[in-house]
Amino acid sequence: MDHSEKIEILKQVSFLESISETELNCFLAECETVSLQPKEVFFEEGSYSETMYVVLSGEVEIYKENKQIATRKQGDFFGEMALLESEPRSASVRACTKTFLLEISKKQFESFLVSNSKIVLAILKSLSGRSREELEVINWGFMELRKSEHRYRGIVEAISDIVFQVDPDGRIVFVNSAVSLLGYDPIQLAGQPFTSFIGAEDEDFPYPLILTKRVGKRSTLNQEVTLKLSKNSDRPDTSITLLMSSFGLWDNPDQNLKKKESQKQFLGTVIVGRDITERKKSEETLQKAHDELEFRVKERTAKLAQSNNALQDEVKVHMGTLKKLQKAKDEAERASQAKSEFMSRMSHELRTPLNAILGFSQLLSMNPINMTPVQRDDIGLIGKAGRHLLDLINEVLDLSSIEKGKMEICQQSVDVDRVLEDVVLLLKPLADKRNIQIVKNLSKESGPIIFVDIQRFKQVLINLISNAVKYNYENGTITIGRYKLPQGKIRIDIEDTGLGIPFESRSEIFEPFNRLAVNPSLIEGTGVGLSITKYLVELMGGAITVESTLGEGSCFSVEFNEEEPSANQNLQVQGRSIVEPVKKGATSQFTLLYIEDNTESQMLMEQIIAKRPTVRYLSAPNMQLGIDLAQMHCPDLIVLDIDLPDINGIEGFEMLKNIEETKEIPVVALSANAMPHQIAEAMAAGFMKYLVKPLEIKKFLEMLDGMSG
Ligand code: ADP
Repeated sequence: MDHSEKIEILKQVSFLESISETELNCFLAECETVSLQPKEVFFEEGSYSETMYVVLSGEVEIYKENKQIATRKQGDFFGEMALLESEPRSASVRACTKTFLLEISKKQFESFLVSNSKIVLAILKSLSGRSREELEVINWGFMELRKSEHRYRGIVEAISDIVFQVDPDGRIVFVNSAVSLLGYDPIQLAGQPFTSFIGAEDEDFPYPLILTKRVGKRSTLNQEVTLKLSKNSDRPDTSITLLMSSFGLWDNPDQNLKKKESQKQFLGTVIVGRDITERKKSEETLQKAHDELEFRVKERTAKLAQSNNALQDEVKVHMGTLKKLQKAKDEAERASQAKSEFMSRMSHELRTPLNAILGFSQLLSMNPINMTPVQRDDIGLIGKAGRHLLDLINEVLDLSSIEKGKMEICQQSVDVDRVLEDVVLLLKPLADKRNIQIVKNLSKESGPIIFVDIQRFKQVLINLISNAVKYNYENGTITIGRYKLPQGKIRIDIEDTGLGIPFESRSEIFEPFNRLAVNPSLIEGTGVGLSITKYLVELMGGAITVESTLGEGSCFSVEFNEEEPSANQNLQVQGRSIVEPVKKGATSQFTLLYIEDNTESQMLMEQIIAKRPTVRYLSAPNMQLGIDLAQMHCPDLIVLDIDLPDINGIEGFEMLKNIEETKEIPVVALSANAMPHQIAEAMAAGFMKYLVKPLEIKKFLEMLDGMSG
């Protein structure tokens, strides 16, 4: 910018209009020109220099605390107040664009301009014009402020929280209409001390906290306070719980407070209170419910603990009872064991004399020629009584096995019709004696197969058919029916035309030792057969039932599951000898060695063998002697008792097997030990046969004949 351009601009400056060009040239020559870059701060508020400026080109803005107050363009002037009063600058100035300024110092102003009253007047005129403008701006700003205050007040009035503004002396400056919650009129409260409004009697009220001067994070947050309600409040309660937050009001913005040196003035406190009475109540209700629950839980736990203790006591008592029971059970088991041992011992002890009784009576009845008819009858009676005793022993033994749960069965596929044939054949002589007819009513289809223990199945049929004979009338009938039922069942009916069973006694007859016959002594029996029969049938997976009409007859039915026909191939036939009889040499005499300690049994055997004069008889009263005799004479058959005084028969048999001369000799056991496990043990040792005392002489002789040829 050259000199003439500057002169042209200065001519336009209001207060320089009255100066001649020559004077302007002199003035310009005296003054400095300042150049400013855009945004460059020229001077700041509070700085001090006694200069004023004329804008030659560009534009500057005058601002206070970052707020623009005015702009000055080409031909405008600023900073004149520094020439009139010696005060620091009241505002800051920075360039808006690239700007050139003419700097007029106090000295230059006084020497060139102040003497010209027109200039001073022009400056004053433009200053008053500016004041008017500023006044309008202030007025507009004030209006804006009013509007803004109105707006904020509207918001403050609309919220449900109570908002107080309190002055530094603690007097209420403003409160919104939400204060009516407490029963107060906001206008009445204005000017009143906040403390008296709260209620002076409340010593615990945290005044210092609520009437805080603090701002930001250190201000009071969510302080729970309880206030008394005014009598005018239409709320049902007498007090209200507010959550109060408050902060101090200061004339300076927050950022300035951080500067220690900055001046700040406390203007009072703003307090915001939120009604939490309902929330509090529900919290209290909840707490109460919780406490109650806790109480109940405690109570319940205590009761539970009590009943637990009682239960534990009871358990202790039960444990005691259990121990006693266990003891009783152990004792019972011991007693049962003792009983079983006693039974087995008794059976053995009874069988041995019975062997003599039955044996000698059989021998006598085999040779009846020298006897009178009375003697013959007596012998018959001895035999009959002996057999009855034997039946009783056998059944009682079975019963004891059942009670011990030790009844052993060996199930196999069995042809029902074949077994029926066998049993009928066996019992026919018994039926014939009483002229009772046995009718078989077997359905035509091929004989069904069932899976049972053949011996036990036979025992069942023998029991039922022999009962049908025993409890029948003379000339009566027994009908044996065998039916295939649906669902793969086989039923066998044994129906008689006999005495029948009273209705009320039907279930009792399966109990041991229950005999129902009108005069039981007339019919032989022990009262045990049916209970064993029922047990055996059920053990083999079957069922037994009875139908009966008193005086007309009874029908016993047993039912078993039928087996698939393919299983038919492996049918087992009962009772074959394991070892074929040894053929004796043609020249030497057949020798039998009987090893037995019981004298009666020895005598009986001697007399039996006497019936076969071709057989040589040797006997030994103990095992050792028996072995010696066997080695010496190499007998064709050894009959060996098991319970021998020196060596047990089974051990003795093992010894015989280990001696060259005796190892091939067939050995038959003859013992009063009739328990199935005793028999099984002996058979497993390799005996040719196991005969149980009392000896059936006829069968024994048949065996002997077969061997001796
Ligand atoms: P036992 O025949 O040895 O007395 P059981 O146990 O076989 O014993 O039978 C028990 C009782 O049931 C018999 O004493 C008899 O009173 C009755 N009983 C059994 N079978 C028949 C039947 N077929 N008819 C009438 N009564 C019977």
